[in-house]
Amino acid sequence: MRASLEDLHANASSMHREGQRARAAIEHARDQVAALVGARPDEVIFVSGGTEGDHLALVGGAWARQARGRRVAISAVEHHAVHGAAEVLAEQGFTVDHLPVDGNGMVVMSALDGLAEDTTVVSLMLANNETGVLQPVAEAAERAHHAGALLHCDAVQAAGKIAIDFRALGADYLVISGHKLGGPKGAGALILKHGTPLKPLFRGSAHERGRRGGTENVPGIIGLGVAAEHARAELAEEGPRLRALRSELEQVLRAADPELVVHGERAPRLPNTVNASFPGARSDHLLLALDARGVAVSAGAACASGAVEPSPVLTAMGVAPELAVCALRFSLGRTSTTDEVAALARVLPEALRAARGVSVGTS
Ligand code: PLP
Repeated sequence: MRASLEDLHANASSMHREGQRARAAIEHARDQVAALVGARPDEVIFVSGGTEGDHLALVGGAWARQARGRRVAISAVEHHAVHGAAEVLAEQGFTVDHLPVDGNGMVVMSALDGLAEDTTVVSLMLANNETGVLQPVAEAAERAHHAGALLHCDAVQAAGKIAIDFRALGADYLVISGHKLGGPKGAGALILKHGTPLKPLFRGSAHERGRRGGTENVPGIIGLGVAAEHARAELAEEGPRLRALRSELEQVLRAADPELVVHGERAPRLPNTVNASFPGARSDHLLLALDARGVAVSAGAACASGAVEPSPVLTAMGVAPELAVCALRFSLGRTSTTDEVAALARVLPEALRAARGVSVGTS
């Protein structure tokens, strides 16, 4: 990426040699991204990230299939990016159906058998961004296709953490984002199955074969390609290593509080994610107490004016509000180590006492 910032300034659409060097770099990245997910390079459309990819897939797919119907269905636990895309469609008069999940956070399969016949696109993510819960996408795609709908899969959290086989998943639209797999922010891809209808959101120029107008972000695309190649090479080792480390992490969390509730514990999950509630320790308070002790975690709950709103994902799973406002997400990555988990173990009891000293409850 650094070399391209210094030495690859030409527009990849230019016919001169410098332009063609930039074009070659983009096409190499396209091969690398395609290889990560088992797709064909011409099925890869570079976009600015997960949010744009989700909008292009869901909105662009629904627009392209309007003759069949003006209805889409999304799972209740989708990322805000997918909810946002559905909102765009709703504002245009489309109907948006929501598919429920069970207590483990997995989509209720029978809901896919009951899809309205004018449903054109179904959105089901591969891995949830809060809980890491993996959805049965291949089975869902089969049911969606049976009902005449296409399947959009937001694989932003899953890419680089578990193996993805685009063909085996059966998705028609699949979205990944660079910054979730060790690459740069502001670069992502929509994988569009050959022949799948799509109406572009950005028009006026013929970039990405007319599917996404706009001069390409060459350094970002190069970074995404390199990240995809590294992720593919490391997956076989990184997966088991992270799974073992997560098991250590869960032991540490449980040792600090036997009442700990791990959300989605009984479902298949990403190897690197634990979403758990310490009853009575509000997530924002514990997050800050841990941050002060050198541990960075995230809260699924949104904080506004001192009050905490339970996460819609946990709410959809039926988690009680008083437990949902205590949920924290602990994520491990390729740089995480056993020593870091041990460091958490040393500070967690004190952080918990500090957090519980501040509050109990939802506000
Ligand atoms: N989808 C999921 C599941 C995500 O976790 C994220 C980001 O966190 C996005 C979409 C949005 O991706 P981006 O930040 O690249 O727009």
